[in-house]
Amino acid sequence: MKKIIAVGLWVVCFAGVLHSENFTETKAKENIVICSAHPDDLEGCLGFAIKAKNRFKLHVIDFTGGERGVKGKTHEEARAIRQAEEESVAKELGADVHWVGQIDGGAFATPEAVTKVYEILKKLKPRAVFLHAPVDLHVDHVMCYAACWAAIMKTKAYPEVYFYEEGGIGETHNFHPHHYVDITDVWDEKVRLMRKWKSQNKNDFLVRFKEPESLFRGAQMVRPVKYGEAYESLIGYPAKKKLNVFQEIE
Ligand SMILES: [Zn+2]
Repeated sequence: MKKIIAVGLWVVCFAGVLHSENFTETKAKENIVICSAHPDDLEGCLGFAIKAKNRFKLHVIDFTGGERGVKGKTHEEARAIRQAEEESVAKELGADVHWVGQIDGGAFATPEAVTKVYEILKKLKPRAVFLHAPVDLHVDHVMCYAACWAAIMKTKAYPEVYFYEEGGIGETHNFHPHHYVDITDVWDEKVRLMRKWKSQNKNDFLVRFKEPESLFRGAQMVRPVKYGEAYESLIGYPAKKKLNVFQEIE
């Protein structure tokens, strides 16, 4: 009888272990959404994305298809080129891309665009959303920010919200960082992925303008590092979690 009870207990325990292992394996990663006006703006938080891709499921919301961004090409041709480039970068990050359908150089935060972003966010229930900083010379960036912020508010879900910068060529202004990420160990990978946006990287343009910005942000850190990325928080906006996403990838 004792033997039967012992075997029974062992079976129950073993099944419990199997169940918990199975649970760990199938437990879905939390989602992080990066909202970009153009299919290369992801460069502003690419170091973070590389470091976060194993811990979180990444999604990129592309507000436009980059239609005006390839000289000598029609809108349709440019969109096809740039969507393919964006998909190839996203693939390396294990990220899904969601296209909103606004037009590069003429994007607006229309009710339809807000609804599209809202539907995506409602489905993904992201832990954090990364937005363009609101003060930016590129109007598409501002429109993308406005539509995505309106969509976030509409969800009433209050994810973590951070602004990233496109500061290297002076597009983002009045940017006051609250968070820094040491991207020194992933800088080479960031460069490799930036070069996949070939149509935007003539003469290594993207790398040349991101490197000084990253050196500057690295030097600003309390314990300076070679390359850094900076992020701004929305002060006063509710933070429900004890740890933020930056602390979780350290
Ligand atoms: Zn842009």
